Amino acid sequence: MGIMEKQQNEPGEIVSLLLKEGLLTKEKALYAMRVKSKLAPDKTLIDTLKDLKYINENQVKKVLRANHLSLRIGDLLVELGYLTREKLNAALNIQKTQKDKRIGQIIVENQFMSENVFIDALSVQLGFPFIDLSIEDVDSSVIENIPIKWCMANSFLPVKKIKGKILVAFADPFSKTDIQGARKLFGKNFVMAIAAPNMIEKKLEKLGSGSVRPKSVVDENTAIGIVETIIGNAIDQGASDIHIEPFEEKLQVRYRIDGILVPYKMFPANAATMVASRIKILCKANIAEKRRHQDGRMTFEHKGNPLDLRISIFVTVFGEKIVLRILNRIDQIIKFDQIGMQPKMLERFKRDVLNVPSGVLIITGPTGSGKTTTLYSCVSEISNPQISIVTAEDPVEYVVEGISQCSIDAGINRTFEETLRHIVRQDPDVIVIGEVRDNYSAGVAVHAALTGHKVLTSFHTEDSISGLIRLMNMEIEAFLISSTVTCVLAQRLLRRVCPHCQQPYKPSSADLKLLGYGPDDMGKSTLMKGRGCPICNHTGYKGRVAIYEMLVLNEFVREAILTSRSSYDLRKISIETAGLVTLMEDALSKVSSGITTLEEAFRCIPRLLAPRPIQEINRLLGVS
Ligand SMILES: [Zn+2]
Repeated sequence: MGIMEKQQNEPGEIVSLLLKEGLLTKEKALYAMRVKSKLAPDKTLIDTLKDLKYINENQVKKVLRANHLSLRIGDLLVELGYLTREKLNAALNIQKTQKDKRIGQIIVENQFMSENVFIDALSVQLGFPFIDLSIEDVDSSVIENIPIKWCMANSFLPVKKIKGKILVAFADPFSKTDIQGARKLFGKNFVMAIAAPNMIEKKLEKLGSGSVRPKSVVDENTAIGIVETIIGNAIDQGASDIHIEPFEEKLQVRYRIDGILVPYKMFPANAATMVASRIKILCKANIAEKRRHQDGRMTFEHKGNPLDLRISIFVTVFGEKIVLRILNRIDQIIKFDQIGMQPKMLERFKRDVLNVPSGVLIITGPTGSGKTTTLYSCVSEISNPQISIVTAEDPVEYVVEGISQCSIDAGINRTFEETLRHIVRQDPDVIVIGEVRDNYSAGVAVHAALTGHKVLTSFHTEDSISGLIRLMNMEIEAFLISSTVTCVLAQRLLRRVCPHCQQPYKPSSADLKLLGYGPDDMGKSTLMKGRGCPICNHTGYKGRVAIYEMLVLNEFVREAILTSRSSYDLRKISIETAGLVTLMEDALSKVSSGITTLEEAFRCIPRLLAPRPIQEINRLLGVS
């Protein structure tokens, strides 16, 4: 905490240098800091000074070039606005566990900045030429008699001679030891340049073939091993999707964990074809086909459990990008009481929605909002030996014991339409329609409910009211909707604060303003935020929590549907008469108990109406 405050109130190293060199006066610097804090908190102090015309670009570059060895690369990038303080802190945190890595390498590897922007920033700001080693050849006379291992240890590569001096490309021009290393070889007879660290490494490995650094695990040497490792690790880390992306210089693998893509590993570009072929064999796709998009499925056995994976192969300019979705993860059907509903909402949902024999329940939200998980939790909650449950899903994502699940397969003409036509003849009590996406399936849902069935389905809309509106626009008579739909449940998944590194924080006045909250509306609650630790991948978050907006239709809402009222009216009526707590309000309730953060709420949830004060929300939800 102390460090953060200090950094925010201090002018920064570049500004200190400008002061020291007499290019700026203390009065002007202080004035600019006041202007920044009042008018432009998002701008860097350097930019504010430039806006005020107190300094210019050339003066900044001049002090940087004269003093670069006394600066730290991370602070420099933050001060110049390339990187946020939060990202730098995350990078520094990562460095604590990966001590052999340079901060620049960590920033690029974790994609806090792209490699191009990173190199460009250093090259432009410090005035070192940038050398593109994928185009530039190394002059063999320059590297003759030079110990390649020494170059590797200091991450530099002599490239060519210019006017009698040797041009040396550095991975980190801020490293005093690397520069010393070059001095030992060339004395003062060299000029500094910058190149991409991985390109320097690659060229050196080629030049010193035989003295190549050992690469990580052995079984990755074969495509089979690589693919096993990629998928196995993803499952262990709880990833939902795996992205395998070919680029010109590398094959990048990322995992989607808790809804966010995180880098897993880079492989050499030449691994791409082998990895793609191996995956194609596993999912029975056409190996010879490399110019068309393909998809497939496979079963992957991991620690004795078979898991289904859905594979999509997409052709890009650098080759095939492969996305694997991990289905039916055993740990993913959550017990209904643990899906994250606040006490009063849960009680009401069970009483008025799940435990009534007929009617349509629609679960709605964008892709990745956890609809499917909730749908399955509901199904396993109501499943019992006295009733028959039949599903139509595209595809079946989890297998639930005791119910009849059908996977849609358009390839063999087992279409959605065909399946729904047969489902009603199966004498079901409960029909689950994976997703309503056209007028036909919406019609089937409503008519089945009208004939006494209970129908569970999902929809792709932002919130509960837009779910209703969308249904009203699907050529279904308003009276059918108002008499069959029992509940529209909208949801989102927000990341949970990491319990291992959480610490209390105070919401900023800007955040409260965004909510339309006065100083007391947040109540006495203690908000929590993760600092970032190895357990949470330095993100400050671990796992996710669902946020719900439950609209249980009452006579007033039904009347509003019959008279085709606007979505604004529907929303107001629902809040005033049907006890609707909005997505934002449920999120705030979970923010107030330290489960997730305001940032997460702002990132994922639409802000439609101003939320009520937190005490009021918690009272409605039964949170003490
Ligand atoms: Zn943590």
